[in-house]
Amino acid sequence: MNQHSRTDAYTDRYAARAAGMVASEIRALFAVASRPEVVSLAGGMPYVSALPLDAVGEMVGELVARNGAEVLQYASAQGDPLLRERICEVMALEGVQASADDVVVTVGAQQALDLITRIFVDPGDVVLAEAPSYVGALGTFASYQADIVHVPLDDGGLIPSALRETLERLRREGRRVKFLYTVPTFQNPAGVTLTTARRAQILDICTEYDVLIIEDNPYGLLGFDGEPMRALRADDPDRVLYLGSFSKTIASGLRVGWALAPHAIRAKLVLAAESAILCHPSFSQFAVREYLGTQPWREQIKDFCELYRDRRDAMLEALEAMMPEGCTWTRPAGGFFVWLTLPEGLDAKAMAPRAIADRVAYVPGTGFYADGSGHRHMRLSYCYPEPNRIREGVRRLAAVVEQEIQL
Ligand code: PMP
Repeated sequence: MNQHSRTDAYTDRYAARAAGMVASEIRALFAVASRPEVVSLAGGMPYVSALPLDAVGEMVGELVARNGAEVLQYASAQGDPLLRERICEVMALEGVQASADDVVVTVGAQQALDLITRIFVDPGDVVLAEAPSYVGALGTFASYQADIVHVPLDDGGLIPSALRETLERLRREGRRVKFLYTVPTFQNPAGVTLTTARRAQILDICTEYDVLIIEDNPYGLLGFDGEPMRALRADDPDRVLYLGSFSKTIASGLRVGWALAPHAIRAKLVLAAESAILCHPSFSQFAVREYLGTQPWREQIKDFCELYRDRRDAMLEALEAMMPEGCTWTRPAGGFFVWLTLPEGLDAKAMAPRAIADRVAYVPGTGFYADGSGHRHMRLSYCYPEPNRIREGVRRLAAVVEQEIQL
């Protein structure tokens, strides 16, 4: 039957994989959420206006004046060599020793997810993903018809005993796992971070069961206290495929991310990238390369961290002061998101239209689970609205939850 749309006359011609490509049910809500009177705690947009835009503009202008022919030309599918070297310097901050040769530049981490799934997953293959998981990764896995099996996380990140149980069960069933997908640091959507002790356990378990790990780490440098966490990749480069992104540390619109893979996998990724896009946009690569080479990017990341820390504080204080009893939430030490759990019996998805009517938006938890569970949860993001708007948003949300409890 037509899963796409009642008015889509082409349904019979689509490949089976297109059935997994369905618009999120909350998209319509998002259109309303962008109205100015609505405080949106829904989107995960980085606050790019905090960049020194004049300096960036000047830098880009000079780039075209000096290297126009190269900047506007096709390039290699693996990515600009000097940019790849600079990416290695960025990863050194998380303890990763990388060779530029093993880096593949991608159109955001999102494209890296697509390429990885393309080279590893046949329809029906098992992909393990933490629950909840980044919605964009679940969408990619579904579009390649993966069988997504969830492993729960808690405040300390992915739960090692649950991972072991799941792997044991799948082994008994004779099912091979293609990879484990995890966002270990400042997770989207849960805001939690895998503890150091658990990092070692997860690596041990994956070694025991011979599972490849996809470590998706776009928020790793956006911590609010102390030094960056050591990446999983730093401790097992043959088992961990690392995904990075400049979307949150420079600018999401440039669409520059990367994959750092074991050498043989890297070669396949380059071939997959060639067939997908020939090569990564040269202009964006040069812009990032130049930015890293000429601008004080470490200080800029610190500025971003301070800005997001203030917003996180505003959200946590407001939640503490205003949310009705029975609600619980995570306390992120970095990144963009708080994960809120409603009292038993309440349904964040059913409540969303009501919240929009009361001029506050959030993302219901259901989108972050492949099986559509997660009704009691919601993701609240503090990255984009200013602290006063965050407080106002939480005030409105608390009132809606209070009314739901009374019903
Ligand atoms: N992974 C995670 C966990 C994300 O949160 C995002 C962006 N929201 C991405 C990947 C994709 O990022 P990019 O802009 O680099 O494609």
